[in-house]
Amino acid sequence: MIDLHIHTTASDGTLSPSDVVMLAKKQGFTSIAIADHDTVGGVPQAMRAGEEQGVQVLPCVELSVGKEHEIHLLGYGIDPQSGYIKAILEQMQRDRDDRIKAMVEKLAEAGFPIELSEVEKKASGSIGRPHIASVLIEKGVVGSVKDAFAKYIGKNAPYYVERRKISTRQAIETILNAGGVPVIAHPGQLLLSETHLLSWIDYMIGFGLRGLECYHSGHTRQWEVFLRRVCKERGLLVTGGSDFHGTVKPDIALGTGLANWRDAPQCLERLLDAMDKAGDGK
Ligand code: AMP
Ligand code: ZN
Ligand code: FE
Ligand code: FE
Repeated sequence: MIDLHIHTTASDGTLSPSDVVMLAKKQGFTSIAIADHDTVGGVPQAMRAGEEQGVQVLPCVELSVGKEHEIHLLGYGIDPQSGYIKAILEQMQRDRDDRIKAMVEKLAEAGFPIELSEVEKKASGSIGRPHIASVLIEKGVVGSVKDAFAKYIGKNAPYYVERRKISTRQAIETILNAGGVPVIAHPGQLLLSETHLLSWIDYMIGFGLRGLECYHSGHTRQWEVFLRRVCKERGLLVTGGSDFHGTVKPDIALGTGLANWRDAPQCLERLLDAMDKAGDGK
């Protein structure tokens, strides 16, 4: 079994990189990718654990980018040591810190019992809104992460604050420069119509986009079929991943959403091939 989109404690997942690898091993996964938000902090530990456990671990990152529409971009096979990726990730971490601070201030001013230090304690790497949600749950303000997003911290909720983002073009170029293969994460979750999404895909292909995450825990069968067709027509790589986060997203297990990905081994082979070539081309 194969799952190419997994979060760890390096961002907003609840399992450490080595625990993710152990769980994957126990559940019969042979290849996984660690794709934390705007950080490669979990990659070295996961790769070491993968070697010990006999699980293939692909280095990856999930960049939140795009000025107009937030797009999540996966970078398979990036070299975590690359100066290109390091510089951009450092900037993104500063932007994340500033944004979380502004959101916590807004919540505290409105009288919610929350302090920045409490949110920071929840995060061991890339800080994000799910860490705010955890504190709100602990304080009894909300009952679940979903609730927290719906009422307070989601995109259209009152305590949402925008984060500074790099352009999709800069993100794609950074991934390519770091020897990686750029793939759009969960295109079916971007809340774009098929036509609008297609124009984004074609625009991004112009900068070097190489694939689409066709299979994902949030995708309907219709999205799977549509995205597969687009990949075939445009010669793009097909990937799939659950977007596992551990207990903050209890409905998503390793492998969730991947049942229809019957040619996963062949797709993985093509991705590995592209990763090899991207690495050589640096
Ligand atoms: P951030 O990186 O701080 O913008 O937070 C993004 C994280 O919050 C990602 O892991 C998302 O999957 C998660 N997220 C976004 N919207 C929701 C939602 N409505 N319910 C639960 N989690 C969400
Ligand atoms: Zn996440
Ligand atoms: Fe995402
Ligand atoms: Fe994700």
